[in-house]
Amino acid sequence: MAPKGDNVVVSNMKLERLLSMKGGKGEASYANNSQAQALHARSMLHLIEETLDGVQLNSSEVPFVVVDLGCSCGSNTIYIVDVIIKHMIKRYEALGYEPPEFSAFFSDLPSNDFNTLFQLLPPQANYGGSMEECLAADSHRSYFAAGVPGSFYRRLFPARSIDVFHSAFSLHWLSQVPDSVLDKRSKAYNKGRVFIHGAGENTANAYRKQFQTDLAGFLASRSQEMKRGGSMFLVCLGRTSVDPTDQGGAGLLFGTHFQDAWDDLVQEGLISNEKRDNFNIPVYAPSLQDFREVVEADGSFAINKLEVFKGGSPLVVSRPDDAVEVGRALANSCRSVSGVLVDAHIGDRLSEELFLRVERRAASHAKDLLEQLQFFHIVASLSFA
Ligand code: SAH
Repeated sequence: MAPKGDNVVVSNMKLERLLSMKGGKGEASYANNSQAQALHARSMLHLIEETLDGVQLNSSEVPFVVVDLGCSCGSNTIYIVDVIIKHMIKRYEALGYEPPEFSAFFSDLPSNDFNTLFQLLPPQANYGGSMEECLAADSHRSYFAAGVPGSFYRRLFPARSIDVFHSAFSLHWLSQVPDSVLDKRSKAYNKGRVFIHGAGENTANAYRKQFQTDLAGFLASRSQEMKRGGSMFLVCLGRTSVDPTDQGGAGLLFGTHFQDAWDDLVQEGLISNEKRDNFNIPVYAPSLQDFREVVEADGSFAINKLEVFKGGSPLVVSRPDDAVEVGRALANSCRSVSGVLVDAHIGDRLSEELFLRVERRAASHAKDLLEQLQFFHIVASLSFA
């Protein structure tokens, strides 16, 4: 259970003990606010399949192991694991081979709502049962499933045990807010802001350095865990600008109405300046160059593809001309990913106040938001020879 209350400074705690998307199935839950991620993922299926076509097939006596890193608790992870396994089965069958048994590991930080995720899993195909029973189950999964808690910036699996790693919309989450960003004496202190969008150069560079250190840890761990001939498909928020203080879509999400709502709380005397300044969103949308430098420095993976991909808007609304709905969609979208951190920093009651203000502010800029809020992603397809 994550600690909650007014006196917790998120930044001083181990972020990985706390961070998760909003669990459960409520209005601001991740499960209910990840349709945009689902759409963006579907638009990249051809790229995933290209990656899978490069994976080396093993003997059917050895299980084929797929991992989704940063799986969260919605149905997106289940959808993608299903796509991956079905595609691999097709590849085995096309060559006239018996497909192996499949194992899927759903991995995320320990505070992830694994219960909700496990309840969404379709029932398992009855391996021991009769063919009739198998055929009668209209929707089943053809793999063994397990949850793996832990940070993907470190080792999670035994050496040489994984065929395919997948990770979507997760690697832009830093392992921590850099210490210098929270240190009043440092040039990187992020005074007055809760994100690096529009912040000073030193603050943004501290974030960039943290991102690159984290990604290096991620790649070093995966290069130990992956079987030779395996592949990895990674997607995270990215930006098109070379300037890290322009965080693109992530910047609009966390650097405008969300920022203004924090300032409202300060101006209304509900929190102090310092309380706001101690809160920083631990997200960094890298440029292609930021990402590429780390992959090349690591050197363990061949780059099949590394590009910026236009994902579209994170807002999925049924009535785009309804400003109230747009405002609520933005607030829910923001809350589903950052709500747990905000709750821990200022408590549930003030968090409620904050997101109400985000909603109102967003509603009064609904048209601009729909036009301007676009996410770009870095897409990487990497192979381990
Ligand atoms: N892949 C899912 C969920 C993306 S949300 C989808 O496509 O919808 C991002 C997820 O990354 C969250 O669940 C968050 O807890 C996880 N995450 C962030 N930092 C992490 C870390 N260091 N290790 C493992 N998971 C992490």
